[in-house]
Amino acid sequence: MTPDEIILKKRQGRELSSEELDFIVGGFNNGEIPDYQMSAFLMAAFLQGLSSIETSHLTKAIVNTGKVLNLDEIKDVVVDKHSTGGVGDKTTLVLAPLLAACGIKVAKLSGRGLGHTGGTIDKLESFEGYKSNLSTNEFLSVIKDIGMSIISQTADLAPADKKIYALRDVTATVDSIPLIASSIMSKKLAAGTDIIALDIKVGKGAFMKEIKEAKKLAWEMIKIGETFDKKIIAVISDMNQPLGKTVGNALEVREALFTLSGKGPADLNELCLTIGSHILKSAKIVNEVSEGRELLYCKIKNGEALSKFEEFLFRQGVKTTNSKLPESERCCYVTSNYEGYVSCLDSEIIGKSSVLLGAGRKNKEDDIDRSVGIELLKKRGDHVKIEEPLVKLHYNVGSLLENFNIIINNILSSYEIISEKNWQENKKEDLPLIYDIL
Ligand code: URA
Repeated sequence: MTPDEIILKKRQGRELSSEELDFIVGGFNNGEIPDYQMSAFLMAAFLQGLSSIETSHLTKAIVNTGKVLNLDEIKDVVVDKHSTGGVGDKTTLVLAPLLAACGIKVAKLSGRGLGHTGGTIDKLESFEGYKSNLSTNEFLSVIKDIGMSIISQTADLAPADKKIYALRDVTATVDSIPLIASSIMSKKLAAGTDIIALDIKVGKGAFMKEIKEAKKLAWEMIKIGETFDKKIIAVISDMNQPLGKTVGNALEVREALFTLSGKGPADLNELCLTIGSHILKSAKIVNEVSEGRELLYCKIKNGEALSKFEEFLFRQGVKTTNSKLPESERCCYVTSNYEGYVSCLDSEIIGKSSVLLGAGRKNKEDDIDRSVGIELLKKRGDHVKIEEPLVKLHYNVGSLLENFNIIINNILSSYEIISEKNWQENKKEDLPLIYDIL
């Protein structure tokens, strides 16, 4: 078996065996197969596609390049939740303590922000002292003691994925459903949980722009999960506008705290209740999804979900649970030039504007400013008058001044405002928050 034989076979559209995929992935991971051959293989896979069986074998080959976490000592059903990447998506910050308050164990390995989408670890590190790099033993004991832990993705789980992703990023092979499915699932499978809840984002600010594509990705990941005997829940949710009312690390944490106190925005609340209730049913904590919603609602109302979040912060190194989150030095409003109804609020532009403000990274090694971000005062369906604020910008002066006008213009261009007559005619077609649950 040689790399060029495998590349040729895939280029001709023939199905690769598990051994061939192990050979190419393992060889690339240990440096025996060079970047140029792996790039050619990825392009062949991108253009010819991979069958579901090949996608599962590829996933297994990636998992086999590293360790698989052994969660046996937790002795309960353990859950992981993953979002394919969104703007303003602070669901994990709400859902993890909410589930832990219901008696579910949540083991979550999270990433940092990627492009215009935020990352859970960046958000949690808004709390001074937050330790995102617990050892495996510490991670397991926090989960055993309090029901949840969130740490950053470790290098020893599915290491080939990181190397393959870096090549895909520069060879125009990112947006392939089998490659995305195997990349995400390899990391989830290496984390060793029993239930994996996937929140597949669809729309302007997401990898998947169309519902049909998002469903295909969901089914591909469900099939991979089945071959590994895992329970997979896939929710397809809207990313045509940001989730909730804030974008930016500390602002999003504050919004998550509000949501855990029962005062969060309706869309974030609804998404958490939907995903959470399906997890509770799958873990057999409740018999029906409706019962799950009731239980989650009750944990918010009686304060247990918020207390669980505080307990979790404390166990992960945050000294005072009411520690102050960073605040920007300055704020200003961006106001509307039109009167009418907001018919569109482009998440991708808002996400990119937040990166320009300093909330995200342009390069991997950049520092971020956790105090800055965008508060969305108007969202889809809201009425707005001329000169009424659309957003409140939280910013620091520093390097921002040169970008200030660009940011304002970008934000204005992310809003589409239409007349009342047009809105009345179009609103029946307004987009749902949740498209499907598989
Ligand atoms: N996220 C991942 O982890 N991998 C992909 O390929 C795309 C999104």
